[in-house]
Amino acid sequence: MRALAVEDDARIAADLTTALQAAGFVVQTCADGETAWFLGDTEDFDLIVLDLGLPKLDGLSVLKRWRAAGRDMPVLVLTARGTWSERVEGIDAGADDYLPKPFRMEELVARARALVRRAAGRGGAVQAAGELTLDANRMTVARRGVPMAVTALEYRLLAYLMLHRDRVVAPGELLEHLYGDDFSREANALEALVARLRRKLGPGIIGTRRGFGYFLEGGGVAA
Ligand code: CA
Repeated sequence: MRALAVEDDARIAADLTTALQAAGFVVQTCADGETAWFLGDTEDFDLIVLDLGLPKLDGLSVLKRWRAAGRDMPVLVLTARGTWSERVEGIDAGADDYLPKPFRMEELVARARALVRRAAGRGGAVQAAGELTLDANRMTVARRGVPMAVTALEYRLLAYLMLHRDRVVAPGELLEHLYGDDFSREANALEALVARLRRKLGPGIIGTRRGFGYFLEGGGVAA
């Protein structure tokens, strides 16, 4: 899961990064509106947390430009305390949710997860594909109800495949969402990760469509 945190207050940006990383996101940050607009326009994020008061280009204008360009990723807007007009403007501009400052990181994370699930058209925190279940709140996975010990990276891979379980996910897309902008990662790192997970989880969980990518067995992709 890839998140972009747009916030010019360095301390809040650092807290956002820590909280979102702990929730399983790969986090990129930026501190001005122009950079934010460019990143959101040219790269794919599963979630964007957007402060409205930003240098160079204000958050509302950034959001309006993204939506005008057809960019429909979930955006959680951070507003100054008590400014109801900002909230209304934010929703009008295409925000999916908003949170007035100051806020508790726990609440931000809960809303972030809800937005990502809603964006993928799945309501509940516990999702299933075939024999695999994944609890997005507890960040745990189980096979036939038996909990499986997975690393944070392995969890992120399974969570991404689960969110997109109705289709085959290309390796390039998986790499981008697992590692963010770290392009030094190569496809064989992904192959090794998948091989390790298959040993752990057993057969019949992660399917491969040769030349296209990976999918969760029983998730809705015709084998
Ligand atoms: Ca600000």
